[in-house]
Amino acid sequence: MRTTPHARTPPDNQKLRLSKPKKKAAGLPAVASSGVHGLRKMGLVKTVKTLRMVNQKDGFDCPGCAWPDPAHRTSFEFCENGAKAVADEAMKANVTPEFFARNSVEELARMSDFELNRLGRLSNPVHLAKGATHYAPVSWDAAFEMVAKNLNATDPNRAVFYTSGRTSNEAAFLYQAFVRAYGTNNLPDCSNMCHESSGKGLGQSIGIGKGTVSLDDIHHADVLLVIGQNPGTNHPRMLSALRDAKQNGARILHVNPLPEAGLATFKHPQDYMKLDFETTTLADIHLQVRIGSDAALMKGLIKTQLAHQALDLNFIKTKTAGFESMVASAEDTPWDRIVRDTGLTRASIEEAGAMLAQSKATIACWAMGLTQHRNGVAVIQEVVNLLLMNGHVGRKGAGFCPVRGHSNVQGDRTVGIWEAPPPAFLDGLEAGLGFSVPREHGYDVVHAIQAMADGKVDVFFCMGGNFLSATPDTDLTAKALANIGLTVQVSTKLNRSHLVTGKEALILPCLGRTETDVQASGEQFVTVENSMGIVHRSQGRLKPASPFLRSEPSIVASLASATLGQTHLPWEELVSNYDGIRDLMEASLAGFEDYNQRARQDDGFALPNPPRDEQRFETPNNKANFQTHTLPNIDVPEHHYVMMTLRSHDQYNTTIYGLHDRYRGIHGNRRVLLMNAEDMVERGWKARQSVDITSHFNGETRFAEAWQLVPYDIPRGNLASYFPEANALVPLHSTAEISNTPTSKWIVCTLNASGSLSDAGGEEE
Ligand code: SF4
Repeated sequence: MRTTPHARTPPDNQKLRLSKPKKKAAGLPAVASSGVHGLRKMGLVKTVKTLRMVNQKDGFDCPGCAWPDPAHRTSFEFCENGAKAVADEAMKANVTPEFFARNSVEELARMSDFELNRLGRLSNPVHLAKGATHYAPVSWDAAFEMVAKNLNATDPNRAVFYTSGRTSNEAAFLYQAFVRAYGTNNLPDCSNMCHESSGKGLGQSIGIGKGTVSLDDIHHADVLLVIGQNPGTNHPRMLSALRDAKQNGARILHVNPLPEAGLATFKHPQDYMKLDFETTTLADIHLQVRIGSDAALMKGLIKTQLAHQALDLNFIKTKTAGFESMVASAEDTPWDRIVRDTGLTRASIEEAGAMLAQSKATIACWAMGLTQHRNGVAVIQEVVNLLLMNGHVGRKGAGFCPVRGHSNVQGDRTVGIWEAPPPAFLDGLEAGLGFSVPREHGYDVVHAIQAMADGKVDVFFCMGGNFLSATPDTDLTAKALANIGLTVQVSTKLNRSHLVTGKEALILPCLGRTETDVQASGEQFVTVENSMGIVHRSQGRLKPASPFLRSEPSIVASLASATLGQTHLPWEELVSNYDGIRDLMEASLAGFEDYNQRARQDDGFALPNPPRDEQRFETPNNKANFQTHTLPNIDVPEHHYVMMTLRSHDQYNTTIYGLHDRYRGIHGNRRVLLMNAEDMVERGWKARQSVDITSHFNGETRFAEAWQLVPYDIPRGNLASYFPEANALVPLHSTAEISNTPTSKWIVCTLNASGSLSDAGGEEE
């Protein structure tokens, strides 16, 4: 009889080792780390061969983040974390049916996420029958029949189809076409948990939910405001662009509760080959704000622009609306409040404001540090307000740059992975696909989990990702998943979502981005869209990890055929040559004209972006809208702290590559809590003190025990910890207004000593 496996990843019981945080990013240590991961997972020959194909024009797109490729590619066009992502996908180890026969689901769940990840590539489709303790092999056809039988036995709105941001445009488009042909808009995706606040905020302000700059704009900015983002770990090649911008005279304003090595000093590893040993100081100013105070900071910077009369009056008059009330709101916000909320001095804010006021071209870059807050949408709109004041949009070197953390998360949304698309988008689909599509909005991630918990979901299908670990409220989500009749994961590697499932489960192993994809008409390529709105080709080049893998498009086609027959679309024919899918996309989506021809261009093509291309705003009033918001209350009760979750330098989303957060000097253990040293002294605590964490939200609490304290340079009253471990402390309905994005950067906590100083584990280095 199957017992409920560990929903939370067990701790990696290695000794916690602490070293001095780094002030320099990349350099030779990044080369060494890339090499170690490559050799360990792929071996020497495959490492050299594979890494030379990453992000190359005739190669494959890095399955890591969505930072764009420069027109001129270097021979090694990847970063350390890109190398880890590729090594992970191209690893030699395999997880076979024989492996599953030897290891029960419960035994596997006792492994940590780090241990699970390095087990290898999934090689064959496997099935976990009702009540079974072990996965067993199943044929592809039987698997598709099983899913089809379950889907056809229920109401389409009792089925949910999740997408992770690695899915290619072609697979995502065919997937949404199948799901809508089946009869639902239940298409939640990982952007619900990351940049949904950016999409909603920008959409209301400038009429498009995407960034408005190109890579070349980054190189030509006067000032780059990097706020709520840690590019050194999450978008490392961005550091090269920041270095190039600095060499062109740009200045960088870094806003973050943590001093991150990536924004301090940067050394491009390839400079050594030119005997150039110089490093580049990136941030000119680091504003170390308190968690949740970015909106207050924006009010201060806006007041400073007004004081300097740094205003593009013609732009404001002709292209915008709402300026007066936005200004009144800023002027009504007293400096005392701004200083108290941010924890900064007025002088430091005015110094940064003066830098912005002198700028002729400003770009704002941001990530989860803004989006995963209660006021995520509002704070992003305050950033937009700041730049609109001086017309910093649709001009060289100026504009908005929400940096996407997943290689095709933006593309997936563009091609239809969207639970709440506007009528015009659905009209386009109907015109292109030739069949009517459902209009009732579907579930986003948080609503989907609530529906699962309420027993309203019979089938849950995941195209990639690690749903359980990526989502908030881990224990609740695990119980919700257990309510579902059938859960299906299309995956490349084993993760916790394969172990915490519905009553019955399937794992369908797919080709990776690095691998050749041969269909009836021959080798296929796919396309992805980067953070800058460039759609470009990716061609797998490696021999697949197993002969039993199938591509994501072909999995969708067979599933659609099994569920719907050859109705709606010629599913199998479409995957014989992906040009057919692209023709359908051209007929269904705005901006994809001559898609097959332009997809074959070396550098792909840019999708239309009216604010960037023409300083035109497709909002209801055809204006860029200043938005007026009051400041959120960021005070918490006495002895309460505000915690944010973050990635270590040795992980990518929920994938744990290793236990070395090298830049922050934290090694061997991930159940750690970064805390201000004075706050620790106040509680009589030392480094490695073991504490229990209780999070509080609307009278609800969540609990996590025995985390070790790490004294760190973080504002008083603030804490930081790693996800996915800390996701268990984020209550499901603690979400951002409007975007419903989980507030993983705003978790109100209390701490209690859970024991004397953790035993003789750790040593100082
Ligand atoms: S910056 Fe992002 S896309 Fe580029 S190599 Fe690194 S992880 Fe991959």
